[in-house]
This record gives sequence, C-alpha cells and structure tokens, in this order.
Amino acid sequence: MSVACERVGGINLSQGVCDLAVPAPVLSGAKKAIDQGDNSYSRHDGTGPLRRALAEKYRLRAGLDVDAEHNVVVTAGATGALYCSCLALLEPGDEVILFEPYYSYHESTLIATEAVPVFIPTQAPDWSFSMQDLEKAVSSKTRAIIVNTPSNPSGKVWSRAELELVAEFSKRHDLFVFTDEIYEHFVFDDLEHISIAALLDMWDRTITISGLSKTFSITGWRIGYAICPAKWAEAIGNFSDLVYVCAPTPLQMGAAAGIVELDDAYFEKLAKKYRRKREILCSSLTEAGLIPCIPQGAYYVLADVSMLPGADSKEKAMYLLDKTGVASVPGESFFKGAAGRDIVRFCFAKEDAVIEEACRRLETLRLSGSKKAS
Ligand code: PLP
Repeated sequence: MSVACERVGGINLSQGVCDLAVPAPVLSGAKKAIDQGDNSYSRHDGTGPLRRALAEKYRLRAGLDVDAEHNVVVTAGATGALYCSCLALLEPGDEVILFEPYYSYHESTLIATEAVPVFIPTQAPDWSFSMQDLEKAVSSKTRAIIVNTPSNPSGKVWSRAELELVAEFSKRHDLFVFTDEIYEHFVFDDLEHISIAALLDMWDRTITISGLSKTFSITGWRIGYAICPAKWAEAIGNFSDLVYVCAPTPLQMGAAAGIVELDDAYFEKLAKKYRRKREILCSSLTEAGLIPCIPQGAYYVLADVSMLPGADSKEKAMYLLDKTGVASVPGESFFKGAAGRDIVRFCFAKEDAVIEEACRRLETLRLSGSKKAS
C-alpha cells in the first residue's frame, strides 16, 4: 500500500511509521556518541548505558528486579528481539498461540523460524477471549503464546484479568509467554499498561519484547530489546549476535539518553497527543460512514469498509486510495480467512495537519455517496 500510495502521491496512513519529531535528548545523545567516536560494535547484548537505563525503567515501571548485566538483550528492533527469541527458544514444529487479529510480523516470524502459529479468533469491539478459547488452542506441541498489549492492529489494551488468565494458562501448560509491548506508552482513557512479566510467578517464563521505534519516533534506528531471565537472555543474545552482531551503537546511546532524560511528563504528553489524533481520525471515519472500532491504545484504528465497492479488503483499500488518495492496510493482513474482508486499518502516527487533510479527503466519501452497488 505504501508503494501504491507513493505512486499517486497520496497520504500514507497504511504503514506504522511515525512522522513525528524525535525528542531532542535522543537526537543529541546519538550525535554526541558519533562525535565522540562511539561508532564500533557494541557488546552483543547492548551498550552498558542502554542496558542500565532499561533495567532501571523496568524496575520503576513494572517493579521487576532487572539486572542490566544478565536480563537485558538490546536487539535490532523489537522485530529482531522476537526473531531471536523464536530462534533461541523454539524448535521446528513447536506450536505458538496467536490472537487474531494479529500483527503480521508475529505470524511471519513464527513461520520463518519453523514454528507453527495456532490462532484464537477474537471479535470487535472488545476482542475478548475465555479460558475455554485458550484450552481449545493448546496441544502437546504448544510451546508459547504471544501477547501484544496494546495490540496492533486492534488497539486493545489487555486488562489485568485477561493477563491473569494467560498467566494461569501458561503456567498450567508450561509455556513461554512472548509479550510484545512496543506500544506501552500509547494507552488512552486512563487505562493502565500492565506487563505480564510482573504478575505472580510469571518472570521465569516471560520474554518481554519492546523497543524505542514508536516511543521516540525512531523506526529507522532499529533499537529494540528483550527483558527476561538470564538463561533465556543468554540464548537470545547469542542469536542476536549471530544474526545482527549488535544494534547500531551510537543510536543505542541516543535511546539511552532519551530514557534517562525524559521524565513521566514526556510520556503522559505523548499519550495525550495520540489520543487527540485518535479523536480526529475516528470522528471523520464515522462522518465518512467507515465506522471505526475505537482503539484503547497503540496508534491504529480498524474501520468497517463494508459500504465500499470491492470483493475483498484489498480491493476496498485500493478503491479508497483511488477515490480519496488515503492509503490504509487491507484487513485481511491481520486475520486468517474472511474475517478481515470488510475492514481496513489506518495509522494515526502522523502530524495533525496530515491527519486533518486525510480526514477532509475521507469525508468526501460521504458527500460523493460512495456506496456499494447493490
Ligand atoms: N511490534 C509491533 C506490535 C508493531 O506494530 C511493530 C511495528 O509496527 C513492531 C513490533 C516493530 O518494532 P521495531 O521497529 O522495534 O522492530
């Protein structure tokens, strides 16, 4: 969709790229590191300043007793963290439970590492699941379950009760929990982000995966990490060394500076700013007749495009691009089977002016009466 959007000079609300400014301490930290000659490989599991900054962050935010020497692996993005975790901890043929709708890289990473995704379908508006759903998905080959809170693409912020359900289930079946928390700071409406690693007896089996791509608008820097017990961290670190050697050293220093220097006010402001973007986009989608499922977190919104012509979500997304110049992602990228056929995903990690222009264009749909031919 990004390529198709570029071809027509459209507004790209498809890919999850943030266009917002990088915070000053992050930029100056990286520049300073480059100028000081910090341009070689770092230790395979990350620079000391970043590992220490992350350990402190998880101590403060989640109450986890994270040791910067043994429990943190800095990776090439959260993507690298999940990839190396799968390489390190799964055998070919191991089954891994994934909630649908899912982030397509989660599915692709499992397939690339020869694991087998097993899906639990969930539905709008609350994307809920029960212990029965979990038990239906488990087999003797199940080795792990993937949690993603706040979720891409649904925007679901997992409740404590839901995480406790997964915790109980994972302990009963002796599973790893891979929890992707990259949108941890994008939580709206006074909801709370909870790390499943902090729940009772969950530390030993949980690999917490996150990164700074979204929080600091540095998707191109490739700075992510895994936080976990030493025995898993060592194996994940070895694979990260093998595949990527290390994350870019001066950029790790920039990320460390950001974590140390930016206080809670920065993160609160960030969530507030994105909440406003959510409001702007969701009210225009409603106006346009593309009913949104209001996200609780992250920076995506799934919208109903059943009113648009097209046999599937790809045709509908292409129709939308053609009529309005606004690019979205076809819903079928996030679902097995037909459940995503009448859905597209919009990303609102854009400057307000860009979102406002996209909204103006989307609202013309209503005016032009772009209804499906009946
Ligand atoms: N995890 C989720 C749920 C995402 O949505 C994305 C990006 O869209 C990533 C991970 C990628 O993170 P990174 O840039 O750190 O590899």
